[in-house]
Amino acid sequence: MVQKTISRQNFNDWMVPVYAPANFILVRGAGSRVWDQEEKEYIDFAGGIAVNALGHAHPVAVNALTEQAQKLWHLGNGYTNEPVLKLANQLIQHTFADKVFFCNSGAEANEAALKLARKVGLARGGSAKNKIVAFKNAFHGRTLFTVTAGGQPKYSQDFAPLPPAIEHIAYNDIEAARIAIDDQTCAVIVEPIQGEGGVINADPAFLQILRQRCDETGAVLIFDEVQTGVGRTGALYAYMNTAVTPDILTTAKALGGGFPIGAMLTTDAYSQHYVVGDHGTTYGGNPLASAVAGAVFEHIRQPEVLEGVKRRAQIFIDGINQLNAQYGVFKQIRGQGLLIGIELNAEYAGRAKEIIQLAGDEGLMALIAGPNVVRFTPSLIIPEQDIAEGLNRLGRALDRFTHP
Ligand SMILES: *Cc1c(COP(=O)(O)O)cnc(C)c1O
Repeated sequence: MVQKTISRQNFNDWMVPVYAPANFILVRGAGSRVWDQEEKEYIDFAGGIAVNALGHAHPVAVNALTEQAQKLWHLGNGYTNEPVLKLANQLIQHTFADKVFFCNSGAEANEAALKLARKVGLARGGSAKNKIVAFKNAFHGRTLFTVTAGGQPKYSQDFAPLPPAIEHIAYNDIEAARIAIDDQTCAVIVEPIQGEGGVINADPAFLQILRQRCDETGAVLIFDEVQTGVGRTGALYAYMNTAVTPDILTTAKALGGGFPIGAMLTTDAYSQHYVVGDHGTTYGGNPLASAVAGAVFEHIRQPEVLEGVKRRAQIFIDGINQLNAQYGVFKQIRGQGLLIGIELNAEYAGRAKEIIQLAGDEGLMALIAGPNVVRFTPSLIIPEQDIAEGLNRLGRALDRFTHP
């Protein structure tokens, strides 16, 4: 065997310890299969955390990247470029939005949205109209503002003092929302399906009351579609599955298919509250990221790709139910499309990570969403035989899990 120069131990030696990665190192991927340093093969149900929507090394993304790489990588926002304008136009054509701001991540897209909402509040109701209503268990990113908007105090409490005037209420609590969203509220930020918080679907009536109360109080409704966007649920954006259209939508993760990019989408009227100099970022909308995202977005928005997401989701659900008939580990399957959360039975509460580790041994990459939920966010075009083989491997992991 070839002498390895880089090992998993190096992570512990050299990296700031904010992650606990798997005990193998992946070196190469094609579609929904990935190989480690030992040439061991894995089926990828993790999809880079809902990012690699076309799998690994898809020719559409590779060609867009390599073509643009020969031409122009970066300019800075003193100069605009063709790929970013084309991408903006694609997003406008296929969503409610009239205007787009580009950045590099989901947290930055939410940061742009929350700052814009505070500015809208100032214009509409003076400095007292600054309250942001957010939800328990929500996840919006790791900047100080977005981690405070997120509803998991364990991620923010050690970094106090936190930005003020952010109130958290229970997700799907219609009565609490009716009361919390008041004349002092400048924004409501919500995930149409809570991803990191355990894959929790929104009640349609809950989203409708958010829309109604925002309209009544002059608050901005922000949909955080960083995880649910770009085809993940089988619709281009999850709001399209609901009766509600937001005022601001944030998108990232799958938008670049693995190349970092994020965006904030909004209407003409809201976009005008930002003026030159109000906000920005050096890399935002650079030609390289925009060219890749343009190609990825164009591919995913095709009706046959979105239909394929729904077909694949059903194959997953049927397969998971079959495994559960055998092993009796799962309580409930949640989510929509290829954002799949599987909650463990009370008997196995808190042990999702163990299942993921056993799955890794068996050659399957998967995620958790909190301690009780196994999560799959695979490529939107994962081959059906890879779903079957991945579920076989999950079965082997569950066999070991239940017969230690
Ligand atoms: C991942 C995620 C974010 C943060 O995105 P980053 O690119 O990690 O900053 C924000 N909101 C939701 C819903 C997410 O799933």
